[in-house]
Amino acid sequence: MKTAILIDLKFGRGHVTPASDNWQLKTYASMIFQSYDVDFCRCIIFQPRLGTVGFSETTYSREDLADFPLLLKNIYENTQDGIQLHAGEKQCKFCDAKGVCPEYASWTGKVSNAVAKIEHTHALSINELTDALKQTAQVKDFIKQLTSQVSAIENVAREKLIKNEVSPEQIGYMLKVRKGVRKCSNPQEVFNLLNDVIGIEKFMSIVDLSIPELESLYAKEAKEKGLFKSQKDAVKALAETIAPFIERRSDSYSLEKLGE
Ligand code: SF4
Repeated sequence: MKTAILIDLKFGRGHVTPASDNWQLKTYASMIFQSYDVDFCRCIIFQPRLGTVGFSETTYSREDLADFPLLLKNIYENTQDGIQLHAGEKQCKFCDAKGVCPEYASWTGKVSNAVAKIEHTHALSINELTDALKQTAQVKDFIKQLTSQVSAIENVAREKLIKNEVSPEQIGYMLKVRKGVRKCSNPQEVFNLLNDVIGIEKFMSIVDLSIPELESLYAKEAKEKGLFKSQKDAVKALAETIAPFIERRSDSYSLEKLGE
């Protein structure tokens, strides 16, 4: 008896349909039976980023999938008289056609309207809250796509204005200069210039030290001096050394979908 092993290595963090119910793997297994002289196909989904939760497997015999190619053929033929699009969270999630799919646009429009119409959010029952969260996830996804599309369009307009390829009158937009945030390039020199007015302690109290930059500088210098084996060890030691002087701004909470 010969067994083929099919491994679908998925790098995302989103939960996928387990191997036993997964039509993508079933299709691959069916193709393996058509192409190779094997009796079984062991199908494995492995998502390393999810640890053990990201592992599922199933095994098909040649007989299990004997009718599957016909089923796929029927599905394909049924789409030839005019494709029936059925938008939904699961099927559209990874579809590249979202930007141009009318069904998707109409579906997201309906979901967005439903979210906009939710009233008395503080009084939602747990079931209503769960449903509303599903809808908001969809709306957020849609907004993300729209935002990226809007940015792409605005970038083109900005570039064309910068290069004088179009005039403000032609497109109805002009360039507005937004001044960059001021940053002190040499605090030591500034202190030297002001120390007859501002003492060192008061001056240092307003110097805003960037912890990531300090970590990176310390790790580099300490490694060059041979004080630590790796930059990671250096950063760890630094964190312990300066811990009494590090304050964290208050923690905040955000929502994260389970399994992501
Ligand atoms: S975006 Fe359109 S084409 Fe893509 S899966 Fe959804 S409904 Fe189908």
